[in-house]
Amino acid sequence: MTINASGWRPERPEAGADTAPATFTGNRALMLDEPLIFEVGSTETTGVDLADVPTGTSRLGGLERAREIGLPGLSEPETMRHYTRLSRQNYAIDLGLFPLGSCTMKHNPRLNEKMARLPGFADVHPLQPVDTVQGAFGVIHELAEWLITLTGMHSVAMSPKAGAHGELCGILAIKAALDAKGEGARKVILVPESAHGTNPATAAFAGYAVENIPASDAGRIDTDALLARLGPDVAAVMITNPNTCGLFERDMKTISDAVHAVGGFVYCDGANFNAIVGKVRPGDFGIDAMHINLHKTFSTPHGGGGPGSGPVVLSEALSPFAPLPFVARQADGKFALIEEESAGDDHPHSFGRMVAFHGQMGMFTRALTYILSHGADGLRQVAEDAVLNANYILRSLEGTLHAPFAASGPCMHEALFSDDGLADGFSTLDVAKGLIDEGFHPMTVYFPLVVHGAMLVEPTETESKAGIDQFIGALRSVAERAKAGDATLKTAPHFAPRSRLDETQAARKPVLVWREPVLAAAAE
Ligand SMILES: *Cc1c(COP(=O)(O)O)cnc(C)c1O
Repeated sequence: MTINASGWRPERPEAGADTAPATFTGNRALMLDEPLIFEVGSTETTGVDLADVPTGTSRLGGLERAREIGLPGLSEPETMRHYTRLSRQNYAIDLGLFPLGSCTMKHNPRLNEKMARLPGFADVHPLQPVDTVQGAFGVIHELAEWLITLTGMHSVAMSPKAGAHGELCGILAIKAALDAKGEGARKVILVPESAHGTNPATAAFAGYAVENIPASDAGRIDTDALLARLGPDVAAVMITNPNTCGLFERDMKTISDAVHAVGGFVYCDGANFNAIVGKVRPGDFGIDAMHINLHKTFSTPHGGGGPGSGPVVLSEALSPFAPLPFVARQADGKFALIEEESAGDDHPHSFGRMVAFHGQMGMFTRALTYILSHGADGLRQVAEDAVLNANYILRSLEGTLHAPFAASGPCMHEALFSDDGLADGFSTLDVAKGLIDEGFHPMTVYFPLVVHGAMLVEPTETESKAGIDQFIGALRSVAERAKAGDATLKTAPHFAPRSRLDETQAARKPVLVWREPVLAAAAE
């Protein structure tokens, strides 16, 4: 291996010197080609030796299955190999840098996993008597306290199971608060153009009319346009901060004050909290609700690796409307589970339940482990290093790729580029596919929508400089090919198990059910 200016590169034969023969299997050493499970197994065989069923009279009253179920039979080792081979075709944060913007694909510390697997956390059942799960409730309660401290808010609803679910929780709390004030007639939620797609989706799902607020040329909310639109029909505004252009929204306090002055509420999308954790308390912006993606900021595995968790911090005004159930510490120091509304306490107006039980216990344990092992100084450094790494990428590549907001000053935790300057006929998609050949998961593409052919790169703080240099080298090389009109890029990826797929066809005419080729042919 050699180290050069753009990080390490393996020694490789010169282009054209690859005279490798085709193999009998189609495999290339440990790069194993794997067919569909229906092609490996057969519906005629079974992986298990079961004795023939004794003949008898069916008691299913005509509901017995009339034809074969059609599932392939495989033995245990065949099944293991099939799924293990498929899993090796996955990209994972444990394999390499995962630059997917807006997703905060950071390393998941092994200590988190060790704690989450302790039997007292891993083996508890949500219906166990409260007395037997005091430790688990203690974890939920302590994590809740840290989330309140870090955000400077009044309370937190722990049960939502992902960011988008948290958004729904926040908007339902706002709806309940407006109803309680007799202001249920407010039907509009304002959403800036730079918002994550889940924001308008949540507002619409909760029954509100969504109105877009344009972005300024600098990639931030057009504050004047937003202030001008405020009025008695506005229930809330939903703002992502830092926003999806990777920039900090500076006018938050002005906006919250103005929204409150007209009787509305402020929802802040906190999915990008990684950029400001330990540096800024969103409560100081005057917001009313914000979800935190534990699976982003607080390093619980996600993206196929585990479930999400989206606690929602609430202002004092919204706290009485928080969902049930929640964990409360009693005067005797024990934890209680509050499951019902009760007029006497401070939660008479809960809007109801979001989930069957208490939320994602495994994620709570991981997130609390992460917070405690980093400490206040460590969390602050997380934000600083995440922002530093993104700015390093922005400044290293702005001469190669067009960076639309480079003049707006430093970015936060993600660097945004556009397709401006690529050769005619070459697109962001070609750059993304080229990165696959380089062994990287592509960055987020065509998002945010305010930038044409957007490429949003989020390195996170857990990458080394050598790792980031290697990524920069790869992206620069692919971008140069796209600018030079290198035709081989149009058919990339070349080294992936499957090459360029027809994505339009896949989206418009998805084949969702496997049909046995012979039968399918006979049926046509
Ligand atoms: C990831 C993300 C969401 C949605 O979170 P999920 O956990 O995927 O539901 C919302 N907004 C922003 C800005 C995000 O990055």
